[in-house]
Amino acid sequence: MTEEIDVAKLTQDLVAMPSESQRSNAEISDFLAFVLDRIGFEVERLAFFDENEQEKVTLVAKKGNGPGGLCLFSHSDTVPGGEGWEALNPRLDGGKLYGRGSCDMKGPLAATMAAAARFRADELQRPLFIAVTSDEEQGYHGARLMLKESQLFHAGWPEFGVVAEPTQMIPVYAHKGGARIQVTARGVAAHTSTDKGVSANFLIAPFLAEMAELAKRFRQDETFMNHEFDPPTNAFNLTINDFDTKPNVTAARTEAILGLRAMPNAHFDEAVQLVEECARAHNLEVETYKMGPFAVSPDAPIVQAACRAAGIARAVTVPFGTEAILYKEFMQCVVLGPGNIEQAHTIGEWIDVAELARAVDVYAQMIEELCQ
Ligand SMILES: [Zn+2]
Repeated sequence: MTEEIDVAKLTQDLVAMPSESQRSNAEISDFLAFVLDRIGFEVERLAFFDENEQEKVTLVAKKGNGPGGLCLFSHSDTVPGGEGWEALNPRLDGGKLYGRGSCDMKGPLAATMAAAARFRADELQRPLFIAVTSDEEQGYHGARLMLKESQLFHAGWPEFGVVAEPTQMIPVYAHKGGARIQVTARGVAAHTSTDKGVSANFLIAPFLAEMAELAKRFRQDETFMNHEFDPPTNAFNLTINDFDTKPNVTAARTEAILGLRAMPNAHFDEAVQLVEECARAHNLEVETYKMGPFAVSPDAPIVQAACRAAGIARAVTVPFGTEAILYKEFMQCVVLGPGNIEQAHTIGEWIDVAELARAVDVYAQMIEELCQ
């Protein structure tokens, strides 16, 4: 054993450092780099300045040599603290640790570090990595930069990854991805007294009627469902915006945003295409942003190792997304972490301290099995 890390204490230290995605996470990253260095990791710092001139830092740390190995993934940014509670003043009460990020995901991050602290580099046959990204809550920019530029990763990718997002310590082998399809109609604004305008709302209306039919189909047609998930549907949604056009003016621009969630084996690409083709058929502008689902076999070695360590018979699926969507291209991943995702982003966010401590043991067992 190299050094004990008190997981509750470290979580409190991290919660007290503001790191909402809108601001720089340099301070918390410097602190994390200091702790990682102290527990025997080589630390790589990757940074960029975002569109608001905020420095965003992602850390990749490595302990031990050899091929393959295991990476424990977290993010250091949080959503804003919100009103009505002391978001950045961590508080222990009745076995719960309260504070912004306690559950999503400074607590889980602290647990991975406490587990890693139990191993000396010379005890490891395969390397152990810890990665902490910026901007997970807005666009995964830190993760993308890391995958492209980390020298530690490019010198030898880990074979396995654990994304430590809160799953109440139940291994997750698949989660949904998603698509956002922006459809725009352009008209001509004019006062209705002239009757010279062209309403973008009328231009987009026939398309919207077809979307209403498509929504019914997505709810009934098994082709677009996967019953491994709850709910099994792609949760097709529509919002409309004509930018507050007054009733006596024709709309110059109307924007519809169609959203749907991606699942494996549920014809996600085909569903997106149905929307896009319909929009083009009505001469509307289309812009699509999509991200496929994360899915690995429930029998994959990393999922099985997670199940053994956590004492869970069978891994599950969840409806929320994680950066595993990006990592799966490079290594075999599972999502497994302490805390309940229902706590994430809430006012009064908390994590159970006993579960945090248990997570440390589970991660340590996985390190033992996969790196020693
Ligand atoms: Zn998270």
